[in-house]
Amino acid sequence: MNGNIRKRDNEWQASVRRRRQVQWILVPVVPIVIGLGWRYPILGFAVPVVMLMGLIGAVFRGRYVCGNLCPRGAFFDRVIAPISRMGRTPLFLRQRAFRWPLLIILMGFMLYRILQNPADWRHWGRVFWGMCLVTTAVGVILGFFLRPRAWCFFCPGGTMQNIVGLLRHPLQFDGAKCKECKVCERVCPMGLPIVSWKKTGTVLERDCIQCMECAAVCPVQALSPSDTRSKSSTG
Ligand code: SF4
Ligand code: SF4
Repeated sequence: MNGNIRKRDNEWQASVRRRRQVQWILVPVVPIVIGLGWRYPILGFAVPVVMLMGLIGAVFRGRYVCGNLCPRGAFFDRVIAPISRMGRTPLFLRQRAFRWPLLIILMGFMLYRILQNPADWRHWGRVFWGMCLVTTAVGVILGFFLRPRAWCFFCPGGTMQNIVGLLRHPLQFDGAKCKECKVCERVCPMGLPIVSWKKTGTVLERDCIQCMECAAVCPVQALSPSDTRSKSSTG
């Protein structure tokens, strides 16, 4: 029994270690795109590429791409998290009433800017670069004062993954094991109320980015990933 628990524990911790290694590879993408994107507009196309990747990924794995393959998310987790105040993200930033209109406004503004010179791919690249610059600056400020991934609640890519991804691959929660120490919630980069799902057996959070940080620190191994499936919930 102990052997099984230790084996599974190592599995989650190994998976978190692998994720962190991949994130360190992705981190330099952010300063490279922001620092050189105006001079080399082709770099701005990293923005739609990551968004498309997230949308395709959401069909199969919810917000997995946000948590594991997004360069900006990696930057928040690896560079901002160590200096973040790790506070609470205000509830309104998580709500559809705020996120959906913001998604429409940001996408509409991007389209408006692109249509000002649609024949020039360099103009497209600079529009993407400008959006990336401004939104990353906002994300870094929120990451420092609130939570590393506070921006990810209303990032256009994250909101689209939330809409498309539903609850694919939700975390399983063995509530009988849980001691309510809330260590999991303290390390969750999104600051999700994990323990509130203790009685349901599943963490029904569409904004879970499937980073598995919570499962890796849980002292009683109450959290684990599940098979891919889809459910509806709030958020
Ligand atoms: S870390 Fe584990 S035991 Fe502690 S509150 Fe979270 S799920 Fe429960
Ligand atoms: S609930 Fe767990 S897997 Fe989901 S974002 Fe938070 S720490 Fe990551």
